[in-house]
Amino acid sequence: RVSNHFPGAADTDYAEEEERKMAAEAFQSVRQQFGRSYLPLINGEYVNTQESVDSVNPSNFSEVIGKVGLISVEQAEQAMQAAKAAFPGWRKTPATQRALVLRKAADLMEQRRAELSAWIVLEVGKPLKEADAEVSEAIDFCRYYADEMERLEQGVNYDVAGETNRYIYQPRGIAVVISPWNFPLAIACGMTVAALVSGNCTLLKPAETSSVIAAKLTEILVAAGIPKGVFQYVPGKGSQVGAYLVNHPDTHVIAFTGSQEVGCRIFAEAATLKPGQRHMKRVIAEMGGKNAIVVDESADLDQAVVGVVQSAFGYSGQKCSAASRVIVQEPIYDAFVRRLVEATKSLNIGEAELPSTQVGPVIDANARDRIREYIEKGKAEAQLALELPAPEQGYFIGPVIFSEVPPNGVIAQQEIFGPVLAVVRVKDFPEALAVANGTNYALTGGLYSRTPSHIQQAQEEFEVGNLYINRTITGAIVARQPFGGFKLSGVGSKAGGPDYLLQFLEPRTVTENI
Ligand code: NAP
Repeated sequence: RVSNHFPGAADTDYAEEEERKMAAEAFQSVRQQFGRSYLPLINGEYVNTQESVDSVNPSNFSEVIGKVGLISVEQAEQAMQAAKAAFPGWRKTPATQRALVLRKAADLMEQRRAELSAWIVLEVGKPLKEADAEVSEAIDFCRYYADEMERLEQGVNYDVAGETNRYIYQPRGIAVVISPWNFPLAIACGMTVAALVSGNCTLLKPAETSSVIAAKLTEILVAAGIPKGVFQYVPGKGSQVGAYLVNHPDTHVIAFTGSQEVGCRIFAEAATLKPGQRHMKRVIAEMGGKNAIVVDESADLDQAVVGVVQSAFGYSGQKCSAASRVIVQEPIYDAFVRRLVEATKSLNIGEAELPSTQVGPVIDANARDRIREYIEKGKAEAQLALELPAPEQGYFIGPVIFSEVPPNGVIAQQEIFGPVLAVVRVKDFPEALAVANGTNYALTGGLYSRTPSHIQQAQEEFEVGNLYINRTITGAIVARQPFGGFKLSGVGSKAGGPDYLLQFLEPRTVTENI
């Protein structure tokens, strides 16, 4: 077993008055910058675009956070050519020097922590404490991958008498990073800096609804000294610019995090050899989940109720790791549902910026409408145990709990990505595990139990990339809970873990007869 001493960045302690004051000042300063334009960064220059899009505050969509220039396919091609031109220099740059850029970026994020948190709160509607934890995660990714690259750069010697054998890693080439909006800083940053520190020239295409935060990450990487052409910020439409870069014959690695639908499509497109292409593309695809928490009859219900509420409704259920199913054993089912409903009623729903808010808005009108459709489907196939009202002005949906949900029902199988929780009744523990495993996904899962044999069985049989026992199932920490799923949740790589950078590298063996 590898022991790990990676010191993660500390979150802000909002119990301290000074910290609360800094947070308030940051919100004020960010609000003063509302409506500014953000341009793509191509070959070290901020370039104009024909198209642009408004990024709005989901808590109050009359507020325009920023205007983001969207690149055309021609500009995507220019960025690709700039990346190719920059690659020979970046691949020869010593790993320690590349790592320095990441460490500098981490320090800059520490300095701008309050401001970055405010941008996250206002652009994607994430409550402040969770936004602050996301900044910590982004910082940790930079520092951890910097350390990891320095470790890997050592290579391995397999020398024998009369022969040296060096096992070494080289960068793959051009990396295209396609990120989601729900961890707009941490995930975009993690995938990007992993690609960069491994020596790949990297193009970042963020989700449209979180392009301003990606522009802030760009400012930070530039200030940290990333050379021109090595990193480029290429906001654009996923179906157009994203697809163009995925299909480009000069793309070597695609690091994608997002929905299963788009991930599967990227996988298929990347597998097709294009004219002039002389390599196979490596695809890293981290996709959705339909995560379950099993509550057995020996569970501490106080602990289970609190853990389920937080896992299901934190950031309005818009985390790939969020709990969207609770599977409860018969003897405690009724008591559990009663207590779950009571605990959920006490949640504060409101604008993400308010310190008292526990459940903010969902990301946009599409998401709100899609979630509402699922709620209607749920009403047709299960019992409505709770539907909380929500404010009108932003894209709000109050938490919803369905009980007596059939394990194969739509709301028990499809990723809803909103504050909707399905509670399933099972007779015993083997049935609980069978129901938990009965989806296409395998991302996170949880078990509340005081029965050692159940805990053991879950470790062996619960099909998830990240299993949490007697705690919440969200909030993975870099180098503590390396994160990622398998089955249709992803390719099984673990962000924030020791295998992650290997995907951005090509291993080689050099043998010399001496
Ligand atoms: P999404 O709709 O799949 O979009 C993800 C990214 O793909 C966006 O940048 C999007 O650009 C781009 N895109 C869309 N169509 C494309 C195409 N044809 N070719 C190339 N790129 C394309 O996902 P999302 O709504 O942003 O994120 C939510 C999803 O991410 C959920 O399913 C969640 O579970 C998953 N997620 C997984 C993890 C994990 O670690 N496993 C972590 C976080 C989120 P546009 O915005 O311009 O369309």
